[in-house]
Amino acid sequence: MAKQPMLKFVDVARDMPVKRTADERNKDFDEIYAEYADAKAAEQASRCSQCGVPYCQSHCPLHNNIPDWLLMTATGRLEEAYQISQATNTFPEICGRICPQDRLCEGNCVIEQSGHGTVTIGSVEKYITDTAWERGWVKEIVPFAERGESVGIIGAGPAGLAAADVLRRAGVQVAVYDRNDRAGGLLTYGIPGFKLEKDVVMRRVEQLERAGVKFVLNCNIGEDLSFQALRGQHDAVLIATGVYKTRDLKGPGAGATGIVAALDYLTASNKVSFGDEVAEYDNGTLNAAGKKVVVIGGGDTAMDCVRTAIRQGATSVKCLYRRDRHNMPGSQREVANAEEEGVTFVWLTNPKAFSGEPVSGVVVQRMKLGDPDSSGRQSPVPVEGSEYTEDADLVIKALGFEPEDLPAAWSEPELPVSRWGTVQVEFNSGATRLADVYAAGDIVRGASLVVWAIKDGRDSATAILKSFDAAREIAAE
Ligand SMILES: Cc1cc2nc3c(=O)[nH]c(=O)nc-3n(C[C@H](O)[C@H](O)[C@H](O)COP(=O)(O)OP(=O)(O)OC[C@H]3O[C@@H](n4cnc5c(N)ncnc54)[C@H](O)[C@@H]3O)c2cc1C
Ligand code: SF4
Repeated sequence: MAKQPMLKFVDVARDMPVKRTADERNKDFDEIYAEYADAKAAEQASRCSQCGVPYCQSHCPLHNNIPDWLLMTATGRLEEAYQISQATNTFPEICGRICPQDRLCEGNCVIEQSGHGTVTIGSVEKYITDTAWERGWVKEIVPFAERGESVGIIGAGPAGLAAADVLRRAGVQVAVYDRNDRAGGLLTYGIPGFKLEKDVVMRRVEQLERAGVKFVLNCNIGEDLSFQALRGQHDAVLIATGVYKTRDLKGPGAGATGIVAALDYLTASNKVSFGDEVAEYDNGTLNAAGKKVVVIGGGDTAMDCVRTAIRQGATSVKCLYRRDRHNMPGSQREVANAEEEGVTFVWLTNPKAFSGEPVSGVVVQRMKLGDPDSSGRQSPVPVEGSEYTEDADLVIKALGFEPEDLPAAWSEPELPVSRWGTVQVEFNSGATRLADVYAAGDIVRGASLVVWAIKDGRDSATAILKSFDAAREIAAE
């Protein structure tokens, strides 16, 4: 068992040479802290009962071999734990931070099910890979041999990046196109830094860049480069564009100044955290400081908005959701965090109108839960005569996202899409009906999760490699 950190610190201090620089002292402290954290991770990992029915694993979209890497961590074999963990997950340290574990691995841990509190799988996963980076176990991506084929990936979010990783390791020439000025997709500009530090994302982007993946940023496919031209430049194309059409508010006054889209608000906040100058943040349009903030919606985006507003110094933050706590789509853990931080949830409420220009209030209709709909969820029904006004000088719309109309935007009517606008693909391979065009992530599933985007990106990349190999075999015959 590892020593207590303070005892070790005193021992180290006693053995220290007389003169040490601040950096050397910090290094000593880091090593001690790392040992302490190893012990904590091992303590948590040793709670895994190795039950033999790993529901945690079957409820992880990547089917991560959780029991094995917990066993390695519990027995101090951290590098092996990292090797097992990274074999199935391209970005374990990212998933460990932002997967809704209560709905996935941890929610299905048998220790949790038996009422003893889950093994904190996500924290251990994060710790293993953070440690691997610190100790140099994360190796550069070096293809075994270069291949002649090239793939163009549209979208540098988790789906596109995971695919780029698989393809580049296999020696394929990879170019990733993104209309943003930085790679990462929603990892960079959606999810706030207090949940996912931006240097953790950029470290992965830089690793891919060093491996030879070419990032073509500020390039909007359909505007700066046509989809057809892109197809002409590559042997295969992967569409990983995510979903960005914001669902809008209805009702009188919904267009008032001071009513903003969640992603504009979060993007501004994330850009500021990179040190960028953002005029709409500086002039207060996308800044909650000193304001009464009302966020409308009950998903994870709404949770990110309310928690960002608290951090920016809002005077009050309220979240309006039309169903009750039990029926909200966002993670319960996030709700608990938001409540602890001072957010008020006003359940069973729907905005009916907005007063003032700029906005000064939200006219709210109270709701009750009625009969279940076809999905089995109880539908919210207005309570007549229950309207009242919530004061607000910043209203953030967090009602969810839908796919953009890609066939129209790209003048490609043959691109197959569902009635919701998601790209239709073959199960597992991500192949579309268009020759050598694949799709992955939210643009296929609708707004989903990072871990699913990673899985889709890996699966599509594997299918693309298989198709290249098949073409080579045919050419050799
Ligand atoms: C605010 C917010 C918080 C979230 N929090 C979580 C969370 O905590 N945990 C979790 O698991 N999931 C979370 N999600 C969901 C998660 O971020 C997404 O499921 C995931 O990022 C989808 O990955 P993707 O690669 O498919 O798309 P994205 O991450 O959306 O990346 C798509 C990329 O494509 C680019 N693009 C789009 N169109 C074009 C074009 N025409 N030309 C060039 N580039 C283009 C975009 O600029 C973007 O960079 C959150 C989502 C939001 C909005
Ligand atoms: S990837 Fe997500 S669901 Fe899978 S083990 Fe890690 S935290 Fe759990």
